[in-house]
Amino acid sequence: MIIVAIIVVFERIKTCEVGRMRSLILHGILSMYRKSWEELRCFRDLKKSQWYSLEEIERIQLKKLKGLVKHAYENVQFYHRRFRELGLKPTDVGNLEDLKKLPIVKKENLRHGFPDTLARNYNTRTLEKGTTSGSTGKPFEWYLDKKGFQHNSASYYRFASWYGVNLGDKIVSVTTASPWGARMHQSARVRWGYMLRRVLRLTAYQITEQTLHDFSIILKQFKPKTLRGFTSPIFLISEFLKKEGISDINPSAVITTGETLFDFQRRLIESVFDCNLFNFYGSSEIESIAQECEEHCGLHLNAEERIVEFVRNGENVSSGEEGEIVITDLNNYAMPFIRYNTEDVGIPKSDQCGCGRGLPLIMDVKGRVCDLIVAKNGALISGEFFALPAPYFLKNHKWIQQYQIIQPSREKLLVNIVKSAEPRKQDLEYLVNRIHKHVGDVNVEIRFLESIPTASKHRFTISHVTPELFR
Ligand SMILES: [Zn+2]
Repeated sequence: MIIVAIIVVFERIKTCEVGRMRSLILHGILSMYRKSWEELRCFRDLKKSQWYSLEEIERIQLKKLKGLVKHAYENVQFYHRRFRELGLKPTDVGNLEDLKKLPIVKKENLRHGFPDTLARNYNTRTLEKGTTSGSTGKPFEWYLDKKGFQHNSASYYRFASWYGVNLGDKIVSVTTASPWGARMHQSARVRWGYMLRRVLRLTAYQITEQTLHDFSIILKQFKPKTLRGFTSPIFLISEFLKKEGISDINPSAVITTGETLFDFQRRLIESVFDCNLFNFYGSSEIESIAQECEEHCGLHLNAEERIVEFVRNGENVSSGEEGEIVITDLNNYAMPFIRYNTEDVGIPKSDQCGCGRGLPLIMDVKGRVCDLIVAKNGALISGEFFALPAPYFLKNHKWIQQYQIIQPSREKLLVNIVKSAEPRKQDLEYLVNRIHKHVGDVNVEIRFLESIPTASKHRFTISHVTPELFR
């Protein structure tokens, strides 16, 4: 009660520097309340270990990996069964190379394996829960324990320190349907966290000239220290600001994520905001995987917290070659991710970065590419908006296993669907009605397929229509 009263009083203080102090003090109070000293200790350790040599970082990884594998074998039915099938015991993992003995796990396996994927010594009521979509729109549910949450938070602040942002600095976060294109079942703690960290969230699922105009006013008034979010809406905002000649927002950095970043996007965003862009790679189920440092010569892996492999046809690829990104999250014991195939593609880079950090590099990440869908009225709708689970788009989608939206023309939308059950007539009508509500009165063609073609696996929405906002 006392804590709530203090927070209410501080929330009334609005001036800028006091606002920063307020945020720091409130965060301190919340830290005491959450007993999250572990988060601060972890942040301090990460700031130090980023300068370690690769060998020292690998020693940290191995120690954590042994603990995780032992825990998974003893407490997680899903992994226990898989290790037993291969005749493996935790003692068989004696070095990092031994990780390759363990099977690669796909989102599909974890989805089917649930609830055996949860550790039996954790209570789900004490865990953060989230759902996210797969590369072609399959929903997936995951859990995170307190320690994992604290390490994720510390990892985020370590990366943020690279572009000069500290706790209490103002951030604008541009989301599509919701953060990371996923739906986090946000507890009051997470929402309070946003407020205390002074994060202003702009929802950009549907963009019109008016939306961009409103965003530009908010950005000018709020003056964030950093602007972060999905690449395509930030690119659209940059195009609008350039067209309008607005150049006085001046964040110290822009952070893009969630989609493949193209060079032409980086050039425009950097020139409009007159600051450096830092590309960030993470997902909703495994946060803070990699980020560029001030040298911008690839993305440094968050290597003390995750082991990242690049795999093709079951083999690890060499530096400079493309491989599927396979991650072991060394902190989430509630629902372990061990050799988890993210379905993204990356290129490892063996060079040492000029910044001197020992954290290994990825040259490039090729994630999902979501085209913007052009609505009948000309508005641009984020492709992420349609990804499952899509709380604002589709409530009833249990009969859909995967789907993909293709826009051949302004008047037509093609929906490719892999069914998990036979849809009822009203299910199909509901889908068409929802499309009409958001996209407008277009001709909707539904096609049922056995699978989504592999060539377009990373393209959840494909549009052949040129947006007219900036003509
Ligand atoms: Zn570096």
